[in-house]
Order: sequence, then structure tokens, then C-alpha cells
Amino acid sequence: MSVELRELYQEVILDHNKHPRNRGKLEEPTNSAEGHNPLCGDNVTVYVHTKEGRVEGISFEGSGCAISTASASMMTEAIKGKTLAEIEAMFREFQKMVTATGEAEEHPDFGDLEVLAGVREYPVRIKCATLPWHTLHAALQGAEAKVSTE
Ligand code: ZN
Repeated sequence: MSVELRELYQEVILDHNKHPRNRGKLEEPTNSAEGHNPLCGDNVTVYVHTKEGRVEGISFEGSGCAISTASASMMTEAIKGKTLAEIEAMFREFQKMVTATGEAEEHPDFGDLEVLAGVREYPVRIKCATLPWHTLHAALQGAEAKVSTE
């Protein structure tokens, strides 16, 4: 990865961390779940409002490092309006993207999430990036239990 690209990625992550999108409690969530990454101390709660198999509203709350906050912020932007099946596919693609080796594939649906491909170079950060997704997954499954990356 070039230095310029790395700096651009850094900027996008810092922007989402500073100005998180869709942060706060959703008015009337149909589903929610809490996630915790003990390795880093990240906590996130994801609220979703689903209707007819589609996520119509999503928000998150929590405290964590820049990567987990930015990942949650980008995730909420990317999945709003998507069907549950589309979200499952994106979840799998996202996990692949942050853990894969070699050149990243293109993900037209991902928007800013694409910049998180850079965490693959920092293995301890992968769980920070995937925590919001695991938490969203649990919320959509209707899981009551808290999610932990450990
Ligand atoms: Zn973290």
C-alpha cells in the first residue's frame, strides 16, 4: 500500500471516529445486541429497526478505540436499507476483507468500509473492526446474550 493511500485511509477512519454517523439510541428498535472486545476494551451496542426483511434504521452506542468506532459508523451507513440476506453476505465479505492476505477485492457496496481493509496489516486490530459486525449479526439473530470476541 502506498504512503498516500495509507494516509487517506487514516483520514477517513479518523473522520468517522470524530464524527460517528448514526450514533445514539434508536427510537424504537426491533432488535439490539451488545458486543464487547476484551482485548482492546471496546464496547458497542447496535440497535436495528427491521421491517419486511429489510433494515430500515440502525444506530450504535458505545465506547472504544478509533477503529471500532469508525467501523461501527461505516457499517451503519453501508447496511441501511439492505435486506437481511444482503447484510449476511456483506458480513462474510467484510470478515474476508479484513483477514485476507493479498490484494483486496473491490466491494462496490462498502463505501468507506473499504478503508478498513488496511487493518489486515495489524492483526490485533481485526477484532476491533469486526466487533460491530458480530454485534449486528447477533442483534439480527435476536440473540439475547452479549457478544464477545473472545
Ligand atoms: Zn479496539
